[in-house]
Amino acid sequence: MITSTTGPQPADFADVRATNLAVVLRFVREHAPCSRADIAASTGLNKATVSSLVADLIDRRLVRETGLTENRVGRPATMLVLDGSPYAAIGVEINVDHVSAVATGLAGERLLTWRRAFSAGGSAGQDVAAVAAIVRRVVGRMARDERQVLGLAVAVPGLVDVQGVVRLAPNLGWRDADIGGDLAKALRDPGFTVQVDNDANLAALAEQRFGARAGAADLVYLTGEIGVGAGIILDGRLRRGALGYSGEIGHVQLDPDGPACRCGRRGCLEAVAGIGAVLGRDLSPAEIPVEIEDTVRAARAGDAAVLAALDAAGRSLGRGVSVLANLLNPEVVVLGGYYVPLAPWLLPAVREEVSGRAIAPEGGGCEVVASTLGLDAAALGGAARVLDSVDSGRLPGGISRIS
Ligand SMILES: [Zn+2]
Repeated sequence: MITSTTGPQPADFADVRATNLAVVLRFVREHAPCSRADIAASTGLNKATVSSLVADLIDRRLVRETGLTENRVGRPATMLVLDGSPYAAIGVEINVDHVSAVATGLAGERLLTWRRAFSAGGSAGQDVAAVAAIVRRVVGRMARDERQVLGLAVAVPGLVDVQGVVRLAPNLGWRDADIGGDLAKALRDPGFTVQVDNDANLAALAEQRFGARAGAADLVYLTGEIGVGAGIILDGRLRRGALGYSGEIGHVQLDPDGPACRCGRRGCLEAVAGIGAVLGRDLSPAEIPVEIEDTVRAARAGDAAVLAALDAAGRSLGRGVSVLANLLNPEVVVLGGYYVPLAPWLLPAVREEVSGRAIAPEGGGCEVVASTLGLDAAALGGAARVLDSVDSGRLPGGISRIS
């Protein structure tokens, strides 16, 4: 029997509409202030459809009209901007000795940045209860400001699978922990999604949305913590790999005879250019900021031994970055975390190694820069991930599409 469709089915229609709402929302995000006619001209949607979609977005308080009009040929056009005043996105970053929380509005404006001492390594259950307590306070603050939480994304330093289960976070002592599920339970079904991802992945999303090279389609973020991980964005999308474990550049072996790595192997990037190696010894998380300050002071004063050590660490790091340049041809590699304060002394050596070792001329155009987002980049990236969900069609209120 031959069947024919006589137009979109209701479910398809809802899906198309949600997609179109997201298209219009993204256009306003990127081009505000803009008019309905601008949206129609650029998206190819007809004017009646755009008017209906904009009315929907205004109802959801995602977009608002400004008092301003722009005089074009003929009638003046009412201009549209992002609204989002009743919403907030939350990102949380779990570290060995602290938890960072960031809340942003729909346009990415910072609403709150908190850093709280935290001591991981009780049990994952105890750790989740402590994190849930912090999240509840952030949600409470947002509620007092009459903002509904759009979602929460949590950054964890470790292997996180594509389902968001933390398979291994050695520094936190976690293994096979469904932190997202446990957090949602601890928050007693909070009415928003809870996602979990690797810290480098989320920091890369923060760079893509908020960083100095925002909008770069091919970007790699390198965490500069005790461990070194990469968050990889190619063709505009975060690349997690088959199971979610991409980006473990910290355990690429650069020197088979090099120093022992925490992973049990030798001469990994992390062992020769992680922050412990840069500073010349293993340090507790609490000691690192102090030691970095001392190192910066000594480097500024021209201390020859410190300058030589930073140059050597920069060369090792550059060898690692050249692997990325040869393999992925990124436009930009962003050094984050504790690499940032040391960047003035690391970057010249890193850049020299990359241009010397990449097979493509001039390092394949790969720039290496220091992050401008500070130490809470991964937490900010959690908020960015929530905003990405909204931009891809998971809109608050009314029709929504699960993507
Ligand atoms: Zn290793």
